Amino acid sequence: MGRYRYIGALICVLLLALALPSLSAPHRGSTMSTKYARGRFGGIVGERFTPPEFARYVDGLNLSKWQPDFVVLHNTWLPHLSAWGTVTGETRMRNLARYYASKGWRAGPHLFIADDFIWIFSPLTAPGTHSPSFNSQSWGVEVVGDYDVESFSGGVRSNTIAALATLHNRAGIDPASLKLHRDDPGTSHHGCPGRGIVRAEVIAEVMALLHPITVMVHGRAVPHTGAHMDGDRVMVALRAVATALGWAVYRVGDGKATLGRGMAERALPVTIQGSSGYVRAADLRQLGATVDWDGHKRQLSISAP
Ligand SMILES: [Zn+2]
Repeated sequence: MGRYRYIGALICVLLLALALPSLSAPHRGSTMSTKYARGRFGGIVGERFTPPEFARYVDGLNLSKWQPDFVVLHNTWLPHLSAWGTVTGETRMRNLARYYASKGWRAGPHLFIADDFIWIFSPLTAPGTHSPSFNSQSWGVEVVGDYDVESFSGGVRSNTIAALATLHNRAGIDPASLKLHRDDPGTSHHGCPGRGIVRAEVIAEVMALLHPITVMVHGRAVPHTGAHMDGDRVMVALRAVATALGWAVYRVGDGKATLGRGMAERALPVTIQGSSGYVRAADLRQLGATVDWDGHKRQLSISAP
C-alpha cells in the first residue's frame, strides 16, 4: 500500500514539477485564456479569487452546456503548501498550463486552492482532466500541499470549504457525493489526497456552511455553538451550551466533561476538535434538558427546568 502511495505521489510530483519557480514576471489582471490555447489544450482562466469573489464569479457562470454531477478532491503533493508563496501564483498557473498543453491534454483540474486564494485553472464550464474515470462528470479541485505531512488547517482549509460550498450550491449537488481522487477505480494515485484530508469532515464543514445549524436554548438563539453533524448526530460546543443552560464546566479530560449546577454533578462524553470540546446534543438530556432536533429547519431546541 505504501508502494502504491509512493507511485501515486510520484505521478503527482511529475505533474507539479512543471509548476517550479520561474523568473518571468507575473501578468496581473490579464486573462490567460487565449495565451495557452494551442493544440488541443483549451486554455486556462488563471485568475485568483477570495471566497466571496469566487462565489460571485461562480454565480455568474453559464452551466447550460455542461454541468458536473459531483466534485473530486485532490492534493498537489508538490508543491508543498509551505512552498506555494515562493513564486507568484500567476507563474505557477502559467507553468502548469504549459505542462498540460505539452501533454496534448484538453484541460487540467479546475481549481488550485492555497492559503492565499482560490485559483481557477481550467474553466468551470467544461470538463477538466484530473481523474480518469470521473473527468466527464466532475469538477476537479486540487488543494495545494501534501496532507500526509502538512496540516490541513487555517486559510487553505477555510478556502477549500468555502470553494466547495460555492460549487455544490451553484450546481445543486449534494455535498455527500464528494469524492476523493483515490476513490477513482481507474487511478494510480492511491495516496491522493493525503490522509489529513478526511472526506467526512470536509462534507460536514461544507454542509455547516451551506446550511448552518441554529441552536435555541429556552427559545433564544445561542451564538458560537459550533453546531455540526457527525454522521446523523448533532454535535454542539460544550461550554457555549452548558453555560446557556446554567451549568458550569468543572473539568474536561479523558473523553469526558464534568459539569455542575448547585449540588448536582454530571459527566458527559466529550470529543475534542481543535481547541474546543463538543458533546452530542442528545447527551444533554443527562442534564435533565429536553432536546428537539428539527432536521428540516436544521434547528436544535433545548430547554431545561
Ligand atoms: Zn489527485
